[in-house]
Amino acid sequence: MIKTMEINIEQVDSFLAKYGYFNKCLNGCSDCCHDYFYASVPEFFLTLHGLTTKPFNLDYFYKRALSTRSYFMHYLPLEIEHLSYKAPSLLAYKVNDFRTGQYINYPDLPPCMFLVNGRCSIYDYRPNTCRKYGTTVTCEYLDNEDFEDDDFTQVHLQPLYDNTALLDQSIETTPLPLWFFYSEYLKPELRSFVFKQLEHYQINNIEKAA
Ligand code: SF4
Ligand code: SF4
Repeated sequence: MIKTMEINIEQVDSFLAKYGYFNKCLNGCSDCCHDYFYASVPEFFLTLHGLTTKPFNLDYFYKRALSTRSYFMHYLPLEIEHLSYKAPSLLAYKVNDFRTGQYINYPDLPPCMFLVNGRCSIYDYRPNTCRKYGTTVTCEYLDNEDFEDDDFTQVHLQPLYDNTALLDQSIETTPLPLWFFYSEYLKPELRSFVFKQLEHYQINNIEKAA
């Protein structure tokens, strides 16, 4: 699955480069990384794979995720407890997502847990939200053409959407904040299970679920 995701990303990057989109962030810019973003389960595994390809200390990111989680516990204690209770099955079944959290006006949001010294630690493996933000008019610095109404471009971005649905047929995608995945699945009691899953996805090239 991981390999398929990487191939899909390369395909989209080549398309964007060929048609003149700037799809790499400005050097040193992290203006849109001071927020939290959703990722699907496959995207979570892709970011985890990205971390394992570098000599990062996983506990460092686990602690950052826990710290962000503490911040959100103040606003959404019930949602987080509910998701946490279901955590062992979240990777296997679709459950309630975190949408309630979108309607809160948070003061002083912590930056993304992957932003370290102003740089994204998993840039090549970043989720679709970050990938697409840079290629739309929403990023004022990159100033790309708006592709939202452009069918030709939309069709060529399809591999990114396909990536969110690449899992075993029994698993549906569950968009959750990245920090939730990391605060939950790097817990000592779940970590080895999650890394076994990752190993499975690194080895097996799972086709899109029917
Ligand atoms: S998408 Fe735009 S604002 Fe966000 S980090 Fe990249 S260059 Fe900066
Ligand atoms: S994953 Fe990377 S690009 Fe996306 S918000 Fe976090 S630091 Fe920024």
